[in-house]
Order: sequence, then structure tokens, then C-alpha cells
Amino acid sequence: MSTLSTDQRELCLKFANTLHWHASDHPWETLHSYADLVGWTLDARLLSPEEAEELLRAAQAQPMVAAAVFERSITLREAIYRLIVAHINTEEPAAEDLIDMNHELSSALAHQQVRVVDQSFVWIWNTDTPALDRVLWPLVRSAADLLTSPEVLARVGQCADDRGCGWFFLDTSKNHSRRWCDINDCGNRAKQRRHYQRTRQARAAQQDD
Ligand SMILES: [Zn+2]
Repeated sequence: MSTLSTDQRELCLKFANTLHWHASDHPWETLHSYADLVGWTLDARLLSPEEAEELLRAAQAQPMVAAAVFERSITLREAIYRLIVAHINTEEPAAEDLIDMNHELSSALAHQQVRVVDQSFVWIWNTDTPALDRVLWPLVRSAADLLTSPEVLARVGQCADDRGCGWFFLDTSKNHSRRWCDINDCGNRAKQRRHYQRTRQARAAQQDD
């Protein structure tokens, strides 16, 4: 089995983050259609612009198939999200989530091949026959690889924001001390709130005097 780079392993975290406020009761969806999924995949540099255009054309010709692939992508994303959350919280992962992920994994791995590129043998995804679900292959591969790489998995964190930001990140700090998806966003808000509470307590103390 090919070895993935850190970026490739992190891919499934970025995919899980496409649902904002994932840990809250009012999540905010950024993927609404197969076209959105292709757009995200293109942004993640998993497709060339030509490949993306070809997929969008194929999706227009087979809207039912495209809709089904989109549904599968959301099922996969939520399975990945819950499997990682279970790991972070040292809870038993749900069997259904593993089944969903493995279902996509078997279908994806059927498309992996070894070919010769520049006189070297390399792992590639066989895209010779057009398949609308090719956008799912690197995502599920990324998740399977991350979950089975203890040293990388140990560095996966979830934003500590108490409103339920829920974003995952790969903690590359030396002492595993990262708490926020973004120090300038959720981290800054927490800092301001602590500051506000301290000022309020100080004012209350003054008024008591
Ligand atoms: Zn956050």
C-alpha cells in the first residue's frame, strides 16, 4: 500500500471541516451539490481544471448518479467526523461508521493501480474510465490512512470553542498544546471573552467596595 504524505492524510480533516459548526446544534453546510463537491476537490488540488470540467459535464448528463455520489460523500464525511471525534474522546467508534467508511474504501481501492511514471513504479488512481465517484477515492484513502497512523492520529485535535466550531486540525506544536482551529478566530474570541469576564469581575468587585 502506498504511503501518504502528511498533506494527503490531513485531507480528510479538511473534508470533515466542510460542515462548519460541526459540533453545534446549528451546523452550517458548505456543500450542497455534486458541483460543490467537485469545486472543493478542485480547490484541494485533487483534480485539474480540465478534469473538474469533465466531471461536471458528466454530472449534467447523469444527474441521478451525481446526486447519489453527492449523498455518499456526505455519509462518508459524517462517518469520518464521528470516527475521529470518537478517537479524540477515547470512545468506542460506532460500527455503522466503520461499515460506511469501509464500504467506500473497498470501492475506492478497486481503482488503485501501479504504473510506470518516469521509469519508476508509482501508485495511481485509475481514471481511464470516467467515474463520477472518483472525487471520493482520495478522501476515503486519506481517512483510512490517518486512522491507521497512530503518530499522526495522536496529533489530530478539535477546536476547543464552546459554541461548537468543531473544526479538526493537525497539531504540529512541539508540546501538543494547540487548542483552536485558528488562534485569530476561535482562539481570539475565547481570549476576548476571558478578558471581558475578568473586567466584569473587577468592576463588580469595585462596586462592592
Ligand atoms: Zn474553531
